[in-house]
Amino acid sequence: MVDGYHKLTRKRQLELLAQRTNVDLSKLTKLAVDSIHQHQIENYLTDFNLPEGIAVNLEVNGRSYFVPMVTEEPSVIAAASNGAKIVQRAGGFTAHSTRLMVGQVLVSGTDLALVKNYVEKQKQHLVEIANAAHPSMQARGGGAQSLQVRELDEDKLSIDLIVDTREAMGANTVNSMVEAVKRELLANQINVDMAILSNLADHALTEATCQIPVELLGEEVAEKISLASEYAQVDPYRATTHNKGIMNGIDAVVMATGNDWRAIESGAHAYAARSGQYRGLSTWNVVDGMLVGKIVLPLPVATVGGSIGINAQAQMNLKIMQIQNAKQLAEVIASIGLAQNLAALRAIVSEGIQQGHMRLQAKSLLIEHGVAETDLEVAVNMLVQAERIDSKNAQKIIEQLRKKDTDE
Ligand code: NDP
Repeated sequence: MVDGYHKLTRKRQLELLAQRTNVDLSKLTKLAVDSIHQHQIENYLTDFNLPEGIAVNLEVNGRSYFVPMVTEEPSVIAAASNGAKIVQRAGGFTAHSTRLMVGQVLVSGTDLALVKNYVEKQKQHLVEIANAAHPSMQARGGGAQSLQVRELDEDKLSIDLIVDTREAMGANTVNSMVEAVKRELLANQINVDMAILSNLADHALTEATCQIPVELLGEEVAEKISLASEYAQVDPYRATTHNKGIMNGIDAVVMATGNDWRAIESGAHAYAARSGQYRGLSTWNVVDGMLVGKIVLPLPVATVGGSIGINAQAQMNLKIMQIQNAKQLAEVIASIGLAQNLAALRAIVSEGIQQGHMRLQAKSLLIEHGVAETDLEVAVNMLVQAERIDSKNAQKIIEQLRKKDTDE
């Protein structure tokens, strides 16, 4: 049991942690004392670095983008660029989005017909109360727009508040608004259990589509991609992996732009299961000589708010993409997801996913086992030609090269 850890000075926190865990914290590369992050989270220890790279050739609605991606997974950026390049040759992606958030006021009791009646009659008044809780949102053209009542079961209902949060993701704004509505209902003797944003952002959907002439991929590959997408519609085991590939691309851009990837992940998967069965977020069909790809998912990303304003890297990344607004960002992100999906499906149905991954996998393995940077290129060539790409062979190659280096 550790009591009051957060009240200790940073020095005492580090001493306590080192003492209790036997970890030599001086080995941490960066115990940044002056990091802005110490004000951002609780019990700050250090910064955790991840690689950032750029995907190229992504064309969306007639504009070309350099897309910053933050990911630790080899081959994600290569695959995104590869998928994007194929689609660019076919005219690029077309994308559009809607952007409203949903907040819930959850009510239980026996007189729900009365509550429903009250809410219907007081709709306008309740929307005004919500807007009064954050008037500046209305001033910039957004704000609470409407209310609707959903019956959940015989003694529970959700009063859904629909809010335009403009350039912000809006979690805090919506929470303030629904809490104001909650107070008003409580004052009118209605039994409110809780009031909070919903991450099933199905009023903030983004759709991206592309049409690729089948001869660009080969007729057989195009048909097989379409078949692969059918599997993801009928089998949750395949759908989960299908969507993981999509999220490889989506999360990487969501993170690079300082957005809340847990919100995007939870919304995407809930949306994938909206029919009652978990399905692929994208579909591919061959229609009149074209492979038609389509993805739809909730993408309530933001260009302001949350940590974006204090994250210089996120702001630089938004500038690299020349993003003007949150809708445009969502459209780029959905397109990256579809590009990622195309590259992965193409690899799976043709040479198999491992072939393309082999060099990157060999590289990671060699780095993990301490290959000298100067030997890396040669070592990768040796390992991909070895009988198996595994730790034993990686170590053998590193030893051979070390010996050669010392002999020379
Ligand atoms: P903020 O609380 O940072 O709010 C953003 C603020 O930016 C707005 O309230 C507004 O303040 C200001 N702003 C300036 N320009 C604009 C503009 N053009 N459009 C809109 N707002 C503008 O963030 P959010 O409310 O967006 O909430 C996101 C954060 O909440 C994320 O960090 C997320 O991780 C976290 N969160 C998520 C939850 C979830 O997903 N369930 C739950 C709770 C928190 P003003 O009007 O005063 O100028």
